[in-house]
Amino acid sequence: MRIIVIGGGLAGLSVAISLAQGGHDVEILESAPAITYIGAGIQVSSNSSLILRRLGIDKYIEKYCTEPVDLRMMRWKDGNLLVECPLKEPAQKEYNSPYWHIHRADLHRGLLEAALDRGCKLHLNSRVVSIDPDAGSLLTQDGTTYSADFIVASDGLHSMARSIVLGKPGPPIPTGQMAYRVTLPAAKLRGIPELEEIITVPRNNHWLGPHGTILSYLLEGQNEPLINFVFTCDVNEVDLPPGVDQRMGTAEEVRNSFKGWDPRIEKMLEYVEDVLYWRLYTHAPLATWSHPSHRLVLIGDAAHAMTPYLAQGAAMSIEDAAILVLSLYERLRIDRVTKVASASVESRWFTQMEDGDKQRERDAWLLLHPGIEPGHINLRSDKLWLDELFGYDAYQVLDEVLSEASS
Ligand SMILES: Cc1cc2nc3c(=O)[nH]c(=O)nc-3n(C[C@H](O)[C@H](O)[C@H](O)COP(=O)(O)OP(=O)(O)OC[C@H]3O[C@@H](n4cnc5c(N)ncnc54)[C@H](O)[C@@H]3O)c2cc1C
Repeated sequence: MRIIVIGGGLAGLSVAISLAQGGHDVEILESAPAITYIGAGIQVSSNSSLILRRLGIDKYIEKYCTEPVDLRMMRWKDGNLLVECPLKEPAQKEYNSPYWHIHRADLHRGLLEAALDRGCKLHLNSRVVSIDPDAGSLLTQDGTTYSADFIVASDGLHSMARSIVLGKPGPPIPTGQMAYRVTLPAAKLRGIPELEEIITVPRNNHWLGPHGTILSYLLEGQNEPLINFVFTCDVNEVDLPPGVDQRMGTAEEVRNSFKGWDPRIEKMLEYVEDVLYWRLYTHAPLATWSHPSHRLVLIGDAAHAMTPYLAQGAAMSIEDAAILVLSLYERLRIDRVTKVASASVESRWFTQMEDGDKQRERDAWLLLHPGIEPGHINLRSDKLWLDELFGYDAYQVLDEVLSEASS
């Protein structure tokens, strides 16, 4: 089949690779004039690393991956440990695939190389401005018409294809929160005793605070180890014009938004120059991801933009890429993604409680229940939830459904 993929982000490249490996002729239309690599780190949990490995992408990225030992949740004010959830061992032993931290640039570059090696054609500067799904054709901004048997729209958060599939506008919804993202060479923080552990032990450090969280983890980086920080908080007074979701920020802004947090954060911010500000969005679950013509489907953020509190947006996109088998696609994907998206919202409220009775009750419970157990109140420590989320093998699910259908 001749397939056009709209958008060369993480979802678009993953699906292009998956389809090309299935023997299809794939062209990717990307609006940007060049594939530039912005952003910071990304967490790749077992449910998505399993697919990347099955698609052979590990060969392109593995050297840039770090495996965190655990996720440590800490009190915002002083960094006191509340709960520790192992990551590396369960990923390897129970979910059969590693939990990785990687710089987005390294993942994106690896995916692009793998897509090109598998014969996908990439057209840059090719913003899709209209789609005729019944005819299987689309038009780009420079006036070129493309036709295909099937169109996969992975055009992200502000997808233009979403409104064509829905038959009405479907813009994403602001969450009222934003994230400051900071990446800096770990060596810059070397020699500061209170930061030593953070820059040497690969773990997922998560400070829980009122209306915000801070996350830090190590990245292998291209040339040297990096430390990545994500500061999530309510949208600050410096608003963004409509349609703009990112801008450069300053360490001063971060400092103002996170006054009084763990003194280690204040110390670390002395060494920060570049800050990236990202506005956070979500989307109500869509009733359908495919156009009635069955020639146009949505994947990735175009289908299910979700909050980042469980670090699952790209992971769900990679699962989509594995399962994109026409009529089975929505049946297998919508319920799972809706569940993960709603758990992600739940996670926001659990991790960002104001100090008070509820927070004290939560912290007391966490301190009494270290580690992972079934029914734990923290999703990241709940064995049942983790089995469902990280233990999901998209290929196995697909095989089971296909063999059920054929019998
Ligand atoms: C702060 C933050 C932290 C996150 N952390 C994680 C994490 O740790 N783990 C995880 O799994 N997920 C994480 N996510 C979510 C993840 O980043 C997204 O789900 C993922 O990047 C979506 O990929 P995508 O390809 O669908 O969209 P995008 O990356 O937005 O790609 C869309 C592409 O389409 C192109 N495009 C748009 N319109 C057109 C058009 N009309 N024609 C042609 N091309 C077009 C764009 O230029 C772009 O290249 C995080 C998100 C945020 C905001």
